[in-house]
Amino acid sequence: MTSIVKNSADALGHEHFRLRIEGFGVGTWDLDLATHELEWSEAAGTLLGVAPPGQEVTYELFLSLLDPKDRQRTDEAIRKAAAGAGGLDVSFKVPGASGRGQWIRARAGIIKDEAGKPRHLSGIFLDIGEEKQLEETLRTRESHLRSILDTVPDAMIVIDGHGIIQLFSTAAERLFGYSEAEAVGRNVKELMPEPDRSRHDSYIARYRSSGERHIIGIGRIVTGKRRDGTTFPMHLSIGEMESDGEPYFTGFVRDLTEHQQTQARLQELQSELVHVSRLSAMGEMASALAHELNQPLAAISNYMKGSRRLLAGSADPNTAKIEGAMDRAAEQALRAGQIIRRLRDFVARGESEKRVESLSKLIEEAGALGLAGAREQNVQLRFSLNPQADLVLADRVQIQQVLVNLFRNALDAMAQSQRRELVATNSRVADDMIEIEVSDTGTGFQDDVLANLFQTFFTTKETGMGVGLSISRSIIEAHGGRMWAENNAAGGATFRFTLPAAPNES
Ligand code: ADP
Repeated sequence: MTSIVKNSADALGHEHFRLRIEGFGVGTWDLDLATHELEWSEAAGTLLGVAPPGQEVTYELFLSLLDPKDRQRTDEAIRKAAAGAGGLDVSFKVPGASGRGQWIRARAGIIKDEAGKPRHLSGIFLDIGEEKQLEETLRTRESHLRSILDTVPDAMIVIDGHGIIQLFSTAAERLFGYSEAEAVGRNVKELMPEPDRSRHDSYIARYRSSGERHIIGIGRIVTGKRRDGTTFPMHLSIGEMESDGEPYFTGFVRDLTEHQQTQARLQELQSELVHVSRLSAMGEMASALAHELNQPLAAISNYMKGSRRLLAGSADPNTAKIEGAMDRAAEQALRAGQIIRRLRDFVARGESEKRVESLSKLIEEAGALGLAGAREQNVQLRFSLNPQADLVLADRVQIQQVLVNLFRNALDAMAQSQRRELVATNSRVADDMIEIEVSDTGTGFQDDVLANLFQTFFTTKETGMGVGLSISRSIIEAHGGRMWAENNAAGGATFRFTLPAAPNES
């Protein structure tokens, strides 16, 4: 291996210095600008991965060692430096290099001769693999962060201690209507309506001076403002961090519009259900009343007719008046019977609107309605729904009434149970029929209960009305299905009912 400085007067001093820096893994090199001869030290050769000592070193060999992508750039940088355009500082990859990251940095300066003419480009090679790896790690982290920002479903916004937006995720772009490029650098208060908009700077200032938490780590429902000026409810939670002594805040924003719509829809469903179930409870009672009253009314009318026949032979001067009164009384009894019959007909007709409905949707909604508060009672709710038996032909409100009633009864029955599990499943039982099963782990049915379960006014509860199941069965039968119940292996009750499958499914 050739050394850079030969036969010079202070060769020894130079040699010492060179050996010392080579000891640190720094290679030295020299390019003769007149002859284009390249020389480099042993350490330089090792760094570049040119193993056999004594191999002839040429500028071309040097370039050929570099990653093809870096050759032209490096060659140009060296030529520029050789032409006297300042020092050289260039980094390149050397696939065969000995260092870890295979990245080498070359630095060099011009050495002039006595006449002031540039003669040598002389410098060092440094292994910068570690720095490059660090850079690589940083870049990987950066791309991880990027992909998180792109994919988190909640909008994510990072601001600095002055409220200036630093990061703006893809979901935030969608939610607020600003692109990341537009949002970064703006004050986050622009994403809020008044009065928060004017106050936000002071919120941050107050937190930074007092450390008093109002929203950080707590989370709150606030109002957001989109670019087009419209506002929407959102849940905001904020985390805090410090970087280089500066505070940063990360906000996670969840759009509650849909959530509130769901709530509103549930409320609407609930009031619809309450209305319909009141109506059906009334109808059921009217029908039972009609049944009970028909006989006494018929008897009244018969007694009237009999009495009138007896009166016919009487010479009493009031006979005509009494006859008239009796006729009218009989008429009224008949009329009462008709009113009741009409009432029954009206109830029996029970307007229903049958449509193609998704069972899973019906069951899930009814679950949300019927089991409000059930989680606090520690009830495990499991819907095991078969999508192959999903579409039925049904009146949504009526079927939900049936389901809510079954769910509520199950909750009542499980009030004292250790195990509280409620399972709803569906299956296809015939080409055109789908069966729904609702099972609980409650008390099950005592001996005589099962026989009377579906009778109007049958109840074992202190405050029960005993109309729920009889209405349910009427509804299912009006749909062309059947409904029945049995005890299950878990000791609880299982209710089953069938509904016609929607034609296009069967
Ligand atoms: P109510 O709930 O007002 O009593 P229902 O017609 O809905 O009226 O129910 C009638 C009776 O059927 C209940 O009182 C109860 O004895 C019985 N029952 C209903 N569901 C269940 C169940 N899941 N487990 C045990 N018994 C039940």
